[in-house]
Amino acid sequence: MKIAIIGGVAAGTSAAAKARRNNKEAEIVIFERDKDISYAGCGLPYYISEVIEGRNKVIINEPESFSEKYGVEVKTKHEVLEIDSENKSLKYKSLKTNNLATYNYDKLIIATGASPIMPPIPGYELDNVVPLRTVSDADKIKRIIYEQNPQKAVIVGAGLIGLEMAESFKESGLEVGVIEKLPHVLPILDNDMSEIVEDHLREKNVDLNLNDGVSEFKGSNQVEKVVTESGKEIKADLVLLSIGVKPNVKLAKEAGIDLGETGAIAINEKMETSKKDIYAAGDCAESKDLITDNPVWVPLGSTANKQGRTAGENVTGGDARHKGILKTGITKIFDLTVSRTGLSASEARENGFEVEEVKIKGVDHAGYYPGLHELHLKGIFDKNTNKIIGAAVIGENGADKRIDVLSTAIYSGLTANDLFQIDLAYAPPYSTPKDAAAVLGMVAEKKLK
Ligand code: FAD
Repeated sequence: MKIAIIGGVAAGTSAAAKARRNNKEAEIVIFERDKDISYAGCGLPYYISEVIEGRNKVIINEPESFSEKYGVEVKTKHEVLEIDSENKSLKYKSLKTNNLATYNYDKLIIATGASPIMPPIPGYELDNVVPLRTVSDADKIKRIIYEQNPQKAVIVGAGLIGLEMAESFKESGLEVGVIEKLPHVLPILDNDMSEIVEDHLREKNVDLNLNDGVSEFKGSNQVEKVVTESGKEIKADLVLLSIGVKPNVKLAKEAGIDLGETGAIAINEKMETSKKDIYAAGDCAESKDLITDNPVWVPLGSTANKQGRTAGENVTGGDARHKGILKTGITKIFDLTVSRTGLSASEARENGFEVEEVKIKGVDHAGYYPGLHELHLKGIFDKNTNKIIGAAVIGENGADKRIDVLSTAIYSGLTANDLFQIDLAYAPPYSTPKDAAAVLGMVAEKKLK
């Protein structure tokens, strides 16, 4: 049995580890065009700000240690150029020697991930205009910060990575500007929840420029200014381009593998693609939205790890399923934890739900216990079934556990009344006798009646 895996980060290494645990004899080869594998992309903003000290902390496994631990051949600096699904072979190239070679597989897992979108805005090729995806990108940003002593960073795109980097740059002592084309930050939230984050960013002296795109980067060799569509000129010694990522699907497309309507690789619950013995997992592949049953593309490490494990199980004869996702996400933006799960109100309406929106301001624990923090909770309920179908929670403390309770509630098909009924833990340092998640359910039940 010969198992080939293209891509060696979250999905690829999860797949390899699972396949090895299941089958001690199989030949397993990972092809990775970069020099690093198995790293925590999610940790990169903290590696840059040195909240996490040391490159080795974000590299979970070096290629050699991974190879030794799992008995997997890891070919870093090797790019796969072509998949021949008829003959079950890969054409690949060593990026060190430029030598071409062929590998015959029995089972193939495509885990090629996603790449940052680099918009062809005039001047985007200037020095110090950078994306953030890999450890090498993070190394480059660190070098700029520690060797050139830039004063101001401008972030283009106010999504999760852009806003995590706003905090990271501030930690490194830079002034920070953010430019966002949409009227609000974090489009994964409803506008009323995004506004809470915007107020917090302004409190932290982030120069927020909403409803404005970039028309040009100016500078001689190195970027010096960002010109916006509204005509503003914003000083910049460093620009982070974080307007989003796109799935790496070129290989799959050229091999005749079906892409879904989202543009990522179409897969079923077993991670099988449209071609026999070829699986896909992680940021290059779609998922199913557990509420609408529609294919969705939400590139997250949590999903990549689960899909990789599922593919690893199935290429070794298993029958594992990854049912789908609720698009649950969480991020730390300065002092706030910002989280969401399920459908936003606007997504729910677009999908034909009759929606009851419920917003409450709760607290993280008993008022008489020190260190009280406000929690903003929003629940989206289906008026026809009273079920919770979406939620967002923002606060300085305790948002993480509420979002996981609400995500579990949505996964389990619970109603507003069930949120009141769940027997959640209570003691003054942790919660209130009626937890904020239960209060959300109580208010929703009243409104729904
Ligand atoms: P990737 O990590 O993209 O890996 C794919 C690999 O395939 C790449 O190394 C690429 O070089 C290789 N490859 C592609 N084509 C070829 C080829 N032809 N030949 C050989 N190799 C190839 N997710 C969360 O869930 N929570 C977070 O908090 C979070 N924070 C993040 C913060 C940052 C700054 C970033 C960048 C990402 C964050 N993510 C987070 C997303 C998460 O890192 C990704 O979802 C995850 O890395 C996806 O893993 P993957 O293996 O599918 O793809």
